[in-house]
Amino acid sequence: MLAWKDGQPYSNRYGDVYFSTDSGLEESRHVFLHGNRLAERFAALRPGEAFTLGETGFGTGLNFLCAWQLFEQVAPAGATLDFFSIEKFPLRDEELRDALALWPELVAQAEVMQQKWRRRVHGWNRWTFGGGRVRLTLAITDVADALAKLPGGRFGQGQVDAWFLDGFSPAKNPEMWSPEVFAGIARASRAGATLATYSSAGWVRRGLVEVGFQMEKAPGFGRKREMSRGVLDGVAASDAPPRSAIVIGGGLAGCAAAYALAQRGVQVTLVERAGELASGASGNPRGILHARFSAGMNPLHRFVLAAYGHALSALDELLPVDGKLRAECGLLQLAFSDAEIKRIGRLVTLDWPVPLFEAVDAETASKRTGMAMERGGLWFPSAGWVVPPALCQRWASAAGITLALGHGVDTLAQTGAGWQVAGQDGDGRAWQAEADIVVVCCGHQATSLAQFAHFPLTPVRGQISALPGTTASVALDAVVCADGYSSPAECGYHIVGATHSFDDVDTSVRTVDHAVNLARLGEHMPALREALGDLDLDQLGGRASIRCSAPGAMPLVGRVEPGLYCSLAHGTRGLLTAGLSAELIASLACATLPPLPMTVVVELSPELRLKPKHSL
Ligand code: SAM
Repeated sequence: MLAWKDGQPYSNRYGDVYFSTDSGLEESRHVFLHGNRLAERFAALRPGEAFTLGETGFGTGLNFLCAWQLFEQVAPAGATLDFFSIEKFPLRDEELRDALALWPELVAQAEVMQQKWRRRVHGWNRWTFGGGRVRLTLAITDVADALAKLPGGRFGQGQVDAWFLDGFSPAKNPEMWSPEVFAGIARASRAGATLATYSSAGWVRRGLVEVGFQMEKAPGFGRKREMSRGVLDGVAASDAPPRSAIVIGGGLAGCAAAYALAQRGVQVTLVERAGELASGASGNPRGILHARFSAGMNPLHRFVLAAYGHALSALDELLPVDGKLRAECGLLQLAFSDAEIKRIGRLVTLDWPVPLFEAVDAETASKRTGMAMERGGLWFPSAGWVVPPALCQRWASAAGITLALGHGVDTLAQTGAGWQVAGQDGDGRAWQAEADIVVVCCGHQATSLAQFAHFPLTPVRGQISALPGTTASVALDAVVCADGYSSPAECGYHIVGATHSFDDVDTSVRTVDHAVNLARLGEHMPALREALGDLDLDQLGGRASIRCSAPGAMPLVGRVEPGLYCSLAHGTRGLLTAGLSAELIASLACATLPPLPMTVVVELSPELRLKPKHSL
């Protein structure tokens, strides 16, 4: 917990201050910004180029805000900043607010930071600032764990250009200054990377020399006579980012990928066979923003957790809660089976530094949802529903995206400089286009493209039912999930669903599937079923669409071969996972910092997970 000493934030756990008592702001500028020559290096960036900063110890976020402010002041338009930071003991909402209130000149940045902060999750967080110019990747975990999962070493080239070493003092916080941490810093660095720290401890400098930095002392800030700074040998090679991209598929995955690339200055053509966006599974009137994980936290669950935090913060910018296109009404995961009771029991024993959900009994569950529940479960206060086609529209209307609706793609071919796509438009006329990169986001239909023929994609038909609300049923005011979901009545209807029929690609609405949805509702939420009264199955509205899944429910996101990427197999979670997957694809394509630990990036990667049959 944050303590205060002489009007400054102080840690009782470590017995140290978060920053210099002379002036944290000036110290941050002197030690970290000047110590790494950032004004000069930011100003020298070219449009399309990205600079990556790494920090040990996010604390109050002061260094981040200072770096963001400087970047806005001196970097040319079109250049972007990645800031990676690590924090094991994140401050509570009000602690961060109070700590940042010390700096009136950073009030605008601090306000945005607080909005993002309330969306933090345990593990990796990816937030964007300044209209997408600045990306913060915050790993809420131990320093050694986070550093080991950055690009570098067995995970390819290091990407960090400059480091802020800002743990508590080495004597009081030795695990932030260990040989393992120094080795992790060197491994994650680009050739020629610099570092700066307020510490003048000789053993810190010697430890950094051990891992390859040339270290020197420099004048310190305030009462500190000396600080240290260093540089790693070599000159970084910079890869030219792609200038153009063709994204295939106008659902959530494709619209999100187009948006993430456009934010990095890439000219995007978004191609969709249908005459409108969100014509497939992304066209449902409700999407449930819902994260379901196991206590084991394997790569899939780490991904889902990071995607949940990312989706909430990205939606805050694009589709703020308004009760019409998005609601943050809360969500109950009902403990409806022995397996669920066991899973929930394990989850609540986790000691996550960020609270995300709460176990509730049947009585509290009934109060929270407004409807009598026979069982309790897990309550997610920030979850809710979204209108997915509206989100697709918002993503796809960003500057730099050109829509090519009614254009089907039949072939992809590598050309000398990039890729050519060819197909037919709605009138049967042949068309083709070229771009530096192609991103395939068309669900199970991807297997009709030769490069994806071997992908293990399964189509899964899902039907939702629209149930007319009654005076009694409109009392439901939260989403309830069991082996399907029910949403509060909106525009007169509860959306209930969905069925799962594997290898079925028929999209006609079936009475028998309505019966399945209603039977499940009756089993798990009898009070709601009763409140809905008699329903004529033949008269019910509904919608059937085809989702796409891959073995293990892990989506396939990443590079397929040079210049060819995909975001596929999001199953029923597209609303949750499309946005973060898009960030991953854009970061891989532009050779910038990925938003996820490399252990997860590797598991998502089609290139590493699947080998084309002919190469086996
Ligand atoms: N850079 C910060 C700022 O701008 O406010 C100040 C950082 S403060 C001096 C050091 C931070 O390191 C604290 O927030 C502390 O919780 C964090 N920390 C300490 N030990 C850690 C560890 N083993 N792993 C990750 N973070 C740690």
